Amino acid sequence: MINVTIYNEYLHEVESEEIAAVYPDGIHNCIAAFLGKNEDMKVKTVTLSTVEELTDELLNNTDVLLWWGHMAHHKVPDEISERVYNRVMCGMGFIALHSAHFSKPFRRLMGTTCSLCWREGDRERLWNIMPSHPIAQGIGNYVEIPAEEMYGERFDIPAPDELVFMGWFKGGEVFRSGCTWYRGLGKVFYFQPGHESNPTYHIPEIQRIITNAVRWAAPLYTLPQIDCPHVESPEANM
Ligand code: ZN
Repeated sequence: MINVTIYNEYLHEVESEEIAAVYPDGIHNCIAAFLGKNEDMKVKTVTLSTVEELTDELLNNTDVLLWWGHMAHHKVPDEISERVYNRVMCGMGFIALHSAHFSKPFRRLMGTTCSLCWREGDRERLWNIMPSHPIAQGIGNYVEIPAEEMYGERFDIPAPDELVFMGWFKGGEVFRSGCTWYRGLGKVFYFQPGHESNPTYHIPEIQRIITNAVRWAAPLYTLPQIDCPHVESPEANM
């Protein structure tokens, strides 16, 4: 069983009727609904108003944490971001969605600004450039996203360990839209599609990619905490 926790700040859907029409129960519940259909996943959601629930206890019992945030990154307490970072070091998977490129835990994990350029009201063709990757299974050569926000380079990230998807936008820009990194014992996936006013998370292929990413990021090995032990030589008793 993969224990999945989804954090969504859940402000756009409350403040805008147009966005509430796309995600009536919030982005977190949309993602929870399609992930929850998998018998190997148990899903919990947390929003900014309940962010204090992201305790060590919950994170210790989370295999993969998904993160969607945009306008209130600064309202997530630093100690919670640090807690997430430490848990990833110990093996927890972390999936940063769309505007979570600027979230505190993602920037902490990357060590760079994670800046990019953007423009609303574009169209995207998401190219599958690593079809052998677990996250790309069941996905064809590309996924058409009829309406999506353009995210463009330069995306200020460290070179990804694996580049699985490359986005092309009708305005001409390209973007490293699906990237993985290995951080400590944890696996990190950044996935660009998912602007709040577009129905991207309702697209079956996008749901498939996120489902695949959860299974990929689920840890095979974890530590209870980061340690730095003094050890005797294994030759000592030879
Ligand atoms: Zn956006």
